[in-house]
Order: sequence, then structure tokens, then C-alpha cells
Amino acid sequence: MTHLLNNPVDFPVELVDGFVKANSKYVKKVYGGVVRATKSKPGKVAIITGGGTGHYPGFMGWVGPGLVDGAVTGNIFASPSASQVRSVAKAADHGGGILLAFLNYAGDVLHFGMAEELLKADGFDVRRSVVTDDVASAPESEIYKRRGIAGGLAVLKVASAAAESGLSLDEVLKVLNKTNERTRTFGVAFSGCTLPGSANPLFEVPAGKMAVGLGVHGEPGIYELDLGTADDVAKLLVDKLLEDVPQNPGKKVIALLNGLGSAKYEELFVTFSCVANRLKNAGIQMVDGEVGEFMTSLDMGGLSLTLVWVDDEIEKYWFVPCDSPAFRKTKMIDEPLDSSIVFNTEPEALKVNKKGNESSRNAAAQIAKALEKIKDIISENETMLGDLDAVAGDGDHGAGMTRGSKAAAEAANWLVKEGAGAQTTLAGAGARWSENAGGASGALWGAALIAAGNALGDDKDLDLKSFSHAINSFVKSVQQLGGANIGDKTMIDAQVPFAEVFENSVSQNLGFVDAWNRAAIASTSAAKATASLTPKMGRARVLAEKSIGHQDPGATSFSLIVSTISSMFK
Ligand code: ADP
Ligand code: MG
Repeated sequence: MTHLLNNPVDFPVELVDGFVKANSKYVKKVYGGVVRATKSKPGKVAIITGGGTGHYPGFMGWVGPGLVDGAVTGNIFASPSASQVRSVAKAADHGGGILLAFLNYAGDVLHFGMAEELLKADGFDVRRSVVTDDVASAPESEIYKRRGIAGGLAVLKVASAAAESGLSLDEVLKVLNKTNERTRTFGVAFSGCTLPGSANPLFEVPAGKMAVGLGVHGEPGIYELDLGTADDVAKLLVDKLLEDVPQNPGKKVIALLNGLGSAKYEELFVTFSCVANRLKNAGIQMVDGEVGEFMTSLDMGGLSLTLVWVDDEIEKYWFVPCDSPAFRKTKMIDEPLDSSIVFNTEPEALKVNKKGNESSRNAAAQIAKALEKIKDIISENETMLGDLDAVAGDGDHGAGMTRGSKAAAEAANWLVKEGAGAQTTLAGAGARWSENAGGASGALWGAALIAAGNALGDDKDLDLKSFSHAINSFVKSVQQLGGANIGDKTMIDAQVPFAEVFENSVSQNLGFVDAWNRAAIASTSAAKATASLTPKMGRARVLAEKSIGHQDPGATSFSLIVSTISSMFK
């Protein structure tokens, strides 16, 4: 829904005002819409587009050099009037004739059609054409009935480059029509959009479903399917578009993945990767890809895929530079890298350069076992740790620790099988932990495991003192890297008591198991005691007050881990 508005009635006018104020170097306001604020070539064909508002960047976002000359802006989802089209067209005219190009909706056809007559009566040379890229809205045999959706951008971009290159009005019309015939779009919606000022969306999609074959005016989909994975959606879109191809399609496409209004860029990129793989597997060459919002429907959830089946002419015009508030094609400032340069996309492989001695290999095997246990206990408690972190942090501690401990356990198991000693095993486990966990705790756990490994070495004969030293090194590295002191409400508050009690117990001649158990008990009560503290480090510092009364997530996970290792001795 729209949270920020004044009077809903003024919304469409006020948004154009704001757009013009923000983009005064590109556009000027005129009755009915906006025109270029830059000088165009005299005699150039002027391309005028437009439609209802609520579709930004369609249509005013595309006014600028190399793209369209003027955009007519109607009411929310309602066509502008003929007089508004005429006003914008007259202001945008460069003496080369006027091409009215808009999406195929009845209201727009009527108003732009009337405007064409008015402009002709004014003495202008005018042509009119509609974009019909939406494959869901009519069968191929009735392509002229199809609605226009996100493919409109591609059609207008190509035609605009043709106009810029000096083609005549009829020649530009021909390029536009050809591009339209070769442009196909198919989309799915996950939620309906809400008109500014309304409380309820125009339609709703049941949870776990998607509406297939959406329109961009709050029209529900044509049918509903279960919502699958991003790859399932990519398959649906690609398969449909590969069934519905123009004549002589060739093998080259431009692919546009368009967010409908509330799709996240992140999910669009995930889906685009699947789209690109599927196109490649189908033997289609993608000459260019665009991911973003090109034609929205207010806050509608969903996306559409457009394929433009390019020939040489369309491809050439597509890449001609253009500049507008919402869409740009630029000439790269630098040359592309040599295609022979390929970067490593995988983390550095783990290696065992030298096998550990027996004592160190035995310790490494125990460490790998402990990491397996840690992985299990952390994943069982992932939600609890995430919830704790959500109190004043960002809620990712459970997820980060789960990823980190899982990768560390895998690495340790592999290294132990390869004959690694404790140092190499902990170095690999630490590296994988921080690579996979991310976040503050990921960096600290990674560094701490590596430091503990350095203390143990690969070929020392290990005794209780060595382990005490390793535990101290673990904690010291967290203190050094993180800079936290006792009482700052971090994992340090559970780690320092652990290390101290372990060391004391060893000096009192207790064995490993007893020393560990006592240390784990101390760590657990220290972690509990963090509830009353105010965080002074990490993300929680900013929302410190909220955190009071709740244990520190990092201290909690640490005490959970050491207590779990205690349970291994039973
Ligand atoms: P992030 O804060 O980056 O989201 P996590 O949520 O995984 O990372 O971990 C948060 C925990 O990390 C905190 O609860 C705290 O125990 C620990 N932490 C954060 N900063 C520090 C620091 N500077 N020193 C020690 N521990 C820290
Ligand atoms: Mg966090």
C-alpha cells in the first residue's frame, strides 16, 4: 500500500511535480505530461508515449536523449485524454513528424486515436502504433489484441534509437512495429496492488500461490498455480516464451526481467540467473540482460520476463547510448577485460601440506568430532539464537552460526581424513567458518579457531597445558580482533570465565574432562549473567536499552557449544 500521500486525488499530479523537480535536467513539464529538457536534432521524428500513472518508470522515466521525446501522464491506471496527448506531442515536436506509441489498452487506444486526429488537423504528420507484448492476454493468432506490458521499454528504446539516427517517420514506425512483433512478455503476480488512499488491494493471491499471466493495472492473473522455487518460476516464464516466438526468431535475445513493484532486486537476480541458465540450455544467445523495474503496477508483487528476439538492426539500435531518468545505455568508459581472463569463483582449496604427528592427528580427530556436535546443537538452536539477536541486533546470529559450524565441521572431517594435524584442521575449519558465516561472530569464530590451531601445532606432543594454552589463544584472538572488554555484553563475557576456570582447574591437577566441565558451567552462568548488561560493542550497541533483560547471542551460543562438548565426555 502507499504510505505517503497527501490528498489521494492529487497524488497523480503531485508525483509528476516531484519527478520533474528531481529530474529538471532531463524533463520539463507541459500540460498533460513531460517533454525533454534537452535540445534534440531538428527534423527528428518525435516519439510520444504515455498511459496511466502507477507504472513508473513507465512512462515519464524514459524521456531523454536517445529515448522518447515526451510522455503523457494520466490518472492512476487511467489513460490520459486526447487533449493531453496533443499538448505533449506539440511541445515535443522537432519538425520530423510525430509517432504516438503506447501500450494496447482500450482507453489509451481511444484517447491517442482522437489525439492523432487532432494533431493531423493541426497540420502534423502523425503515425500511431501500439505495443502488444503480453503473450498471456490473447493467442498468437490474435496478436493485435494483446496487452502491452514491460516489453514496451524495449520497443520504445529501439524505435527511439532509429528516430535518433535520422530515419523518416514511416521508417521509424517500421522499426517499432518489427520490434514489437519480436518482443514477448509473460509474468506472474504474488500479490495485488493497492490504489493510493485505499485500504485493500485490487486483488489478492492466496498464500503459496501465484497468479499467472498478470496485467499491469491490477488485473488478476489468468489462472493460479502453486508458487514454486525461483527456478520453477524461471522455467514457467522461459518455457512459455519459447513456445510463443515470432516468425524467423533467430537465436539471439535481449532478456528483461521486470519487477512489478514490490519484487526485491535480490530475488530478481536469483531468478534471472535461472532464466539465463535455461536460455543457454535452450541454445539461445542472450546478447544483453536487464534486471530491474521497467513497468510496475504500484506495489504489486511479481515479475515478468521479456524476450526481444533481435535481428542485426534491433541489436544495433538497442545498444545505441541513451540517457533518461530511469533508463540508460552508455558507451563503456573503459575497454572490456580480455576474454581470456577468468577469475577463480571458488574459495581457496583446503590442503594438507604435511601430515600431523600422531598426537596432533588424534587431537584433530577429536576436534572434528566436537565440530560435528557443535554443528548439530547450533542448528537445533538456530531459531532461538536468531530470536535473541533480533531483540537488538539483526536476527542473523542463528543462521550465521549454523552456516559457519556446518562448513567448519565438513572441512575438519575432510582434513582429518587427509592426515592433518590439529593446526591444519583448525586453520581449515576456521577459514571455512568465517567464509560461510559472515557477520561479526563469523569473523571472530574463524580467527579464534585458527589461533587455537596455531597454539596446538601439527607436530607437538600435546598435553593438558597445550589445550589450556590453545583455549587462551582462542579467547585472546577474539579480544584482539574484536576489541571487546569483559562487561561489554559480547561472547567475551562467556569466553573469559571459560578460559580462566579451565586454566585454574588444570593448575589444580584436574584432568581434561573435569576441567572442561567446570569451565563450561562457569561459561553458562556467565552467559546467563549477560542478560542484565548493556551492550557496548557490535550491532546491539545502538539499540542497547532493548537488549537489557536478554542474554547476549554470541555469549549464549558459546556457552551452548562448550556445554555440548561436555556432554560428549559422558
Ligand atoms: P552480526 O552482529 O554481524 O550480525 P552475529 O549476529 O552473528 O553478527 O553475532 C553477534 C554476536 O557477536 C554478539 O552477540 C556478540 O556476542 C558478538 N560480537 C559482536 N561484536 C563483537 C566484538 N567486537 N567482540 C566480541 N564479540 C562481538
Ligand atoms: Mg547479527
